[in-house]
Amino acid sequence: MKAIVIGGGIGGMCAALALEQSGYQTEVYEAVKTIRPVGAAISIWPNGVKCLNFLGLKAQLQALGGNMAFMAYNDFRHGQTLTRFSMTPLVESVGERPYPVARADLQAMLLDRYGAQRVNFGKRVSHIEQDATGVTAWFEDGSEARGDFLIAADGTHSVIRPSVTGQRAERRYAGYVNWNGLVSIDETIAPADQWTTFVGEGKRVSLMPVSGNRFYFFFDVPLPQGLAEDRSSVKADLARYFSGWAEPVQRLIAAINPETTNRIEIHDIDPFPQLVKGRIALLGDAGHSTTPDIGQGGCAAMEDAVVLALTLQAHSLGIEDALRRYEARRVDRVKDLVLKARKRCDVTHGKQPEVTRAWYEELKRETGERILSGMQETIVGGPLA
Ligand code: FAD
Repeated sequence: MKAIVIGGGIGGMCAALALEQSGYQTEVYEAVKTIRPVGAAISIWPNGVKCLNFLGLKAQLQALGGNMAFMAYNDFRHGQTLTRFSMTPLVESVGERPYPVARADLQAMLLDRYGAQRVNFGKRVSHIEQDATGVTAWFEDGSEARGDFLIAADGTHSVIRPSVTGQRAERRYAGYVNWNGLVSIDETIAPADQWTTFVGEGKRVSLMPVSGNRFYFFFDVPLPQGLAEDRSSVKADLARYFSGWAEPVQRLIAAINPETTNRIEIHDIDPFPQLVKGRIALLGDAGHSTTPDIGQGGCAAMEDAVVLALTLQAHSLGIEDALRRYEARRVDRVKDLVLKARKRCDVTHGKQPEVTRAWYEELKRETGERILSGMQETIVGGPLA
């Protein structure tokens, strides 16, 4: 049995690895010649970590992951700590650590494991067709590939999605812009073993440690869509949006490299009920696009990959039956993650200013218990809980 996997991002590579582990042949087709991930890093929460462990990547991931032993929220203006707590209760309750990882490192780890030379780069799918025995994909260069089934991991702008759902999905602007990148760890900005977030005015500035003595940083600002801002004005833009913010934030703005700082208008897509049609399955952002507010988009793609492979392995009534079971196991989970992230997004980014102000007040009373229990609930909803 052979799967055609479209897309060589986190979702596609995890799917290919999981399927091969379950005894399926795979061919991966990736549109671009060199993958340049949209963000600088990603936090892989224990539900995602367990999926990568399952794929045999435990030691590699541990080597790439930052030590996020503590979590803290700081006031935006004076930088004083609103709350700070250890992540240990979460780690002990779910049985695994979270690992923030640079995306380039994560992508290289997945490609190495699969064999980068086996990925068909520069192959952009234009359309697909299925029949009673398999699926054919046609590429823009005129070539084609055929498999017994097809996994569409072609991201949030998926060209395959409409042939599964029967309609074009509208991406929804979430109301804020995110700048992100990597910078050398500087403990005058934040502790090296902590996820630190400065909050105020519906904005946030966050730092997470990753390997190589680096912080993954991001800035969020609620803004209208389509502003003419780019790399050339990053520092001036951030200095303006974060004028009056605490000294560590100013130091971070001074330290960032505009050439490697990404600016992204954040979107999601209303959850939809179809992930499968016949022999075609959507996976990762192609099947569920979320805002990054609970850091679960990539983790959900990892979960999809593991559930897909386990479901195919466990059932013997044919591909279509197994894919329907994959859909049934994933559809509520991914809907829940998208909607949870959307809710978090609105509170964090001042959609209703009084709600956001109440959250800032709540943070002053937070012991860690409430935040960690919310995270735990999300994590234990994963397939390897
Ligand atoms: P993608 O990474 O988009 O990969 C799709 C691949 O398909 C691409 O390589 C693309 O070139 C290829 N492709 C596209 N069209 C075609 C075609 N027609 N033919 C062939 N190939 C094609 N998630 C987390 O878990 N934790 C986080 O902390 C986190 N932070 C985030 C921060 C930001 C700012 C953003 C934007 C997202 C974040 N996410 C996070 C979400 C995460 O990045 C995505 O969910 C994840 O990258 C999805 O992987 P994917 O493989 O499904 O899609």
